[in-house]
Amino acid sequence: MSGTAPHPQGHKAFPTAPRPLSPEALLNEEERGRILAKSALFAPPEAKLPDGRTDLVGLSREELAAEMVAMGEKPFRAKQLWHWIYHQGERDFSRMSTIAKPFQQKLAERFVIGRPEIGTEQTSNDGTRKWLFRFRDAQQVETVYIPEDDRGSVCISTQVGCTLSCSFCHTGTQKLVRNLGAAEIVGQFMAARDSYGEWPTPKGGGEDDDGRRLSNIVVMGMGEPLYNYEAVRKALTIVMDHEGIALSRRRITLSTSGVVPVMDICGQELGVNLAVSLHAVRNDLRDVLVPLNRKYPIEELLAACRRYPGVSNARRITFEYVMLRGVNDSAAEARELARLLKDIPAKVNLIPFNPWPGNDYQTSKPETIREFSEILLAAGISSPVRRPRGRDILAACGQLKTASERERRA
Ligand code: SF4
Repeated sequence: MSGTAPHPQGHKAFPTAPRPLSPEALLNEEERGRILAKSALFAPPEAKLPDGRTDLVGLSREELAAEMVAMGEKPFRAKQLWHWIYHQGERDFSRMSTIAKPFQQKLAERFVIGRPEIGTEQTSNDGTRKWLFRFRDAQQVETVYIPEDDRGSVCISTQVGCTLSCSFCHTGTQKLVRNLGAAEIVGQFMAARDSYGEWPTPKGGGEDDDGRRLSNIVVMGMGEPLYNYEAVRKALTIVMDHEGIALSRRRITLSTSGVVPVMDICGQELGVNLAVSLHAVRNDLRDVLVPLNRKYPIEELLAACRRYPGVSNARRITFEYVMLRGVNDSAAEARELARLLKDIPAKVNLIPFNPWPGNDYQTSKPETIREFSEILLAAGISSPVRRPRGRDILAACGQLKTASERERRA
């Protein structure tokens, strides 16, 4: 939450007016510009088919209205289409009953309502479902649905590969190929909804989404979302729009490994929940586990967390902490973690390491994880241990993609 009032039901398209950035954040203005320029170097291909038709998914409301005007239509057509695309989940213009037949045909000649193609789909015994989605240029990313007792999260990717090489992460072994476009990011969630038949969006959307399986989004898949911020912003703005998918920002969590200058802007513009991949309490160790730490060390990262808008006891920052045996799991480190987080409304997710071939880390012993968690709890910090999910499928992020590429090469 960006400190403004919660988004009222029936309110129009999302972005609230950005508030001025804090003085500390402004110091980072130049660097933020540099990061945004660099992300443009890895831009996705144009959202067009070889036959020249344009994909309407991923266009902002304004862009959609401009397309309608270019066809000689009234801008209100964009509102109609938005409803069909993002509320009803309809992909076939001829089934859009509020649109006259001749106009349906004109639309079909110029546009498509795209989805990523399903390369692979695996469903685990515990209900976790994982897709390898393929885009028009044959690049692939992973998306995972994780059911829980009272909700279900779709974990979406934002880049093909990743630049950051976190040493415990399988995706970090894949070099960055390119950023995903807004259509490809929002398309993963739409394709997941197709898979579970969860269209249309309930009337009112947002907090009325209780009881649905795909109730939440975590931007935690392949890639560092804040290194592809413009496309992420556009995609999440579409997802939060109250006349479409209408997922409240409280149901969206963005996870970063700590791109400090963009954390500020993300907090101001999107106000979604924040998760931070922390994984270590000392800079020398975090430099190894999360090499981005050499650029934005723990002190700067935690300062950015303290100024993240809307953080409160009701809306805590989640710190992800992968439990690596003998590396970062001592009682002393748990106490240091409690000390570091003492003035931040925080929750710590303890994640037993999910081993993958070619990596030497081992997961911490269950009793070590328990002790670590109890030390945090005694300091007043909630520290649930994440249950390993999808053990019977290739569940470590990036594994499915590597397996598929190996198969293709063979
Ligand atoms: S943990 Fe995230 S940021 Fe680090 S290498 Fe993996 S995908 Fe990239």
